[in-house]
Amino acid sequence: MNHIDKPLCNCGVVGIYNHPQASLMTYYALHALQHRGQESAGIVASRQKSSDPSKKKFAIHKAHGLVLDIFADENILMHDLRGTASIGHNRYSTTGSNIKRANIQPFYSSYHAGNLALAHNGNLTNTLTMRRNLSNEGVLFQTSTDSEIILHLIARSREDTTLLRIQDALRQVRGAYSLTILTDEGLVAARDPHGFRPLCIGKLGDSYVVASETCALDIISATYVRDVHPNEIILIDDETIRTGVIKSMQIDDVTPRPAHCIFEYIYFARPDSMIFGHAVDKVRRKLGKRLAEEGGVLPMEPGGKVVVINVPDSSNTATLGFSRVNQTAHGTDTRYEIGLIRSHYVGRTFIAPGQANREFKVKTKFNVVRGVLEGQQVVVVDDSIVRGTTSKALVNLIREAKPREVHLRITAPPITHPCKYGMDFPSREELIANQHNLDVEEIRAALGVDSLQYLSIEGLLETVPNENGEGYCTACFTGNYPVEIDSEANKLALEEMG
Ligand code: SF4
Repeated sequence: MNHIDKPLCNCGVVGIYNHPQASLMTYYALHALQHRGQESAGIVASRQKSSDPSKKKFAIHKAHGLVLDIFADENILMHDLRGTASIGHNRYSTTGSNIKRANIQPFYSSYHAGNLALAHNGNLTNTLTMRRNLSNEGVLFQTSTDSEIILHLIARSREDTTLLRIQDALRQVRGAYSLTILTDEGLVAARDPHGFRPLCIGKLGDSYVVASETCALDIISATYVRDVHPNEIILIDDETIRTGVIKSMQIDDVTPRPAHCIFEYIYFARPDSMIFGHAVDKVRRKLGKRLAEEGGVLPMEPGGKVVVINVPDSSNTATLGFSRVNQTAHGTDTRYEIGLIRSHYVGRTFIAPGQANREFKVKTKFNVVRGVLEGQQVVVVDDSIVRGTTSKALVNLIREAKPREVHLRITAPPITHPCKYGMDFPSREELIANQHNLDVEEIRAALGVDSLQYLSIEGLLETVPNENGEGYCTACFTGNYPVEIDSEANKLALEEMG
């Protein structure tokens, strides 16, 4: 997928237990989660050893590329990865090089207590300290990712059971993690104490499914049971299949206030998913509505009309909400139109460096519907502005259709800080909001639009679900990081450590 100037999402994880075609189900689920990571993917499956049915054999297949391409050879899923339990991972690298094959997840290890495979979504925040400590104790790292630390901590734990070993490991790491772990006993899933990233549990007949978003349950017709709670480790094993009881334990003794990633609602999660217990579609519509309340666009002359367009696909849902309220609250003749058409066949287009090529990159992804925009007062609703380079190129493209005016409305506050919990943002200096010291009028002029309005942080916090005492991370808008970062490690810091 050719992302253009959006924060890149981290990863998607899946786990299936007690299904005769576990890896095939994982494959479909990973395909539904492809938006969470497009650099690489992998599946680990377990089956009984034919020589000794009391033991498990783990098989793995992983590669760079998209899920449908990596598993295109049907022998991989039907033969190599046969078995009744599996985990899978889609990766966009937030720590570690994206070229290194060893960094592709799931990770697999055979240790004194048996087989262990792990898939991780999120970023740890005490990575450098933990890695240094483990290296000093003689641990040899195969990858340059934070996720491998968890695997070593589990393998080195002196606790008696798998669940206790995993708890012991997770008590030592900090930051964001939604995990699926496959062991000889069963499928384990865990979510960090703050619950930064989503993770849900579903059921499919006698099988259990764990996935980052509910769209992965839908594709295999599994029904949503509940979320893995923040600060919770669950185990689904043969006893669960017999009794229906999911074993559960806390990671830390005290569960802190949640810090769900608010950006999942704004942009990352699919609108057809439910995350943190709520439908993304509904929340995103409300964000658009609130933005229209805060910054509606009135026609230039009485009786005139306003044409509202989305930036496909990320702002489709919010634009529905915006145009509805722009019509009702302001009594404005507001038309929601399809003014931009997105090419779905972009892939990794070769673009030479330079500003003019940025425009070309936008043109490989979008084209304008001239008849919709020409001579109109156009409102473009988008979900975020990062560097601003793409927004500017998009505005230039829209201007080629000769609208009378172009107004930009953003369903998020200005991004001022990078994410430390698993999203890839550019540096603070590269963010357009910082380049103009948060001066919206300056940003407007730089983007070349007639007006610009961001959603306020108050508007954002009042719009996302709050009824059950939810708490959110808003660090990329406010700089208030809910979990301490123990070093300013960048994405490739572990590479440099060797
Ligand atoms: S910093 Fe932003 S993107 Fe990162 S977890 Fe917090 S809200 Fe989400």
